Amino acid sequence: MPNKAQPHVALLASPGMEHLIPIIELGKRMVSHHEFHVTIFFVASDHASITSLLKSPTSDNLDIVALPFVDISGLIEPNTHLVTKLLEFGMLKYVFVTTKAWFLAVIFHSSSLDKQVILEGHVKGRKPLKIPGCKSLSFKDTLESLHDIDSLDESEFIGTKMTKSNGILINTWQDLECSTIEALRDNNYLGGLIKVPIYPIGPLVRQEGKQVLDKQAKQWLDKQPIESVIYVSFGSGGTLSAKQMTELACGLEQSQQKFIWGVRPPSNNALGSYFTIGKNDGDGTPDYLPQGFFTRAKDIGLVIPMWAPQAEILRHPSVGGFLSHCGWNSTLESITNGVPMIAWPLYAEQKMNAAMLTEDFEIAVRPKVSTTEEIVGRGEIEAMVRMMIADKEGHAMKNIVKELKQNAEKALDKGGSSYNSLSQVAQDCLHHVQV
Ligand code: UDP
Repeated sequence: MPNKAQPHVALLASPGMEHLIPIIELGKRMVSHHEFHVTIFFVASDHASITSLLKSPTSDNLDIVALPFVDISGLIEPNTHLVTKLLEFGMLKYVFVTTKAWFLAVIFHSSSLDKQVILEGHVKGRKPLKIPGCKSLSFKDTLESLHDIDSLDESEFIGTKMTKSNGILINTWQDLECSTIEALRDNNYLGGLIKVPIYPIGPLVRQEGKQVLDKQAKQWLDKQPIESVIYVSFGSGGTLSAKQMTELACGLEQSQQKFIWGVRPPSNNALGSYFTIGKNDGDGTPDYLPQGFFTRAKDIGLVIPMWAPQAEILRHPSVGGFLSHCGWNSTLESITNGVPMIAWPLYAEQKMNAAMLTEDFEIAVRPKVSTTEEIVGRGEIEAMVRMMIADKEGHAMKNIVKELKQNAEKALDKGGSSYNSLSQVAQDCLHHVQV
């Protein structure tokens, strides 16, 4: 007879919303689909958004525990053996990579190479990093972590630690990154470096528990024609320069398309953190947006200061495009709602995401500039918004992304590839507690 003890899974989220969101969704799935007891540990922060996250419905079998903030930078030093410590408790330990398989391939591949080769060829020589079995990484989309010896050491360390786990879960799905996942799963890949099983279990995206959009915004959105609104947001931490904010505001205005903009003060605004809407212009326009913007844009746009209920907005049928910084959560939320994107990456792996969305899936358009120091002009913004909402090119992207949405749903449904992957992990855990 099998042991009836309910397996208890501890999920430890790295700091940052981008990790906590998929971790919570993973926890919920382990409870609802696999009858586990789950405890999620995360590092406490006073971020209002985390409070809203934790309000979403949970179950008796899901505990969420806030840990006090401590300096964990020492944990990534090579002499700290966190994973090895877990071994001493006789636990199975998995790594959940909350982004895509291609990112993982870059980390492993770069850790298998001579660092000088990366620095000379890819960074100084600006040659693409050729990753066996996967899409090459062009220099314009490269990661900051490949830019110097210290960061490369850190990537190598992370890669090595991952190979000591019992498996690597990734927030992607088989059909989305088929060849990359196959490459990672090949026992001989990168000279047999990886060895541990790879489990694509996504897309795990945030499910808004209850309506959080305020009444006025909801009414405004309800009255717009289907797929006529572009939603603009640069994620939980992204900000633009004051000059870029002006261009964006003017571009949106000139496009004459409907928009919802989750606005944050610009990165170089000294008043930034003291900002309140209504402080400056007579109509409430803050000082870093063009004068009178609120008045001129009132019939076509809605501005939400600081934090917008993104999951709910993207799910609304009036939304037909997402101008996004391409964080992986935002990317998955857009795909799973069938919304094409204007891919405007700012930092980290967002540029890789933008490259995938435009070059591989053809569900996004991207500004021509390749660094955040360059400014995307209002004319280009206007053209991209119009194209996305009003042109046939935008419609073609909508059709493709809707197919991807269905494909993602299939992967997560019972019997689908991601469902089966997580079931395999669950079975292994169950087996482990029974022996
Ligand atoms: N988000 C939100 N409202 C905002 C900004 C962000 O709800 O105004 C959520 C968004 O839905 C996503 C997450 O925060 O789930 C951002 O994660 P992502 O990986 O896209 O980017 P990051 O913020 O890590 O750069």
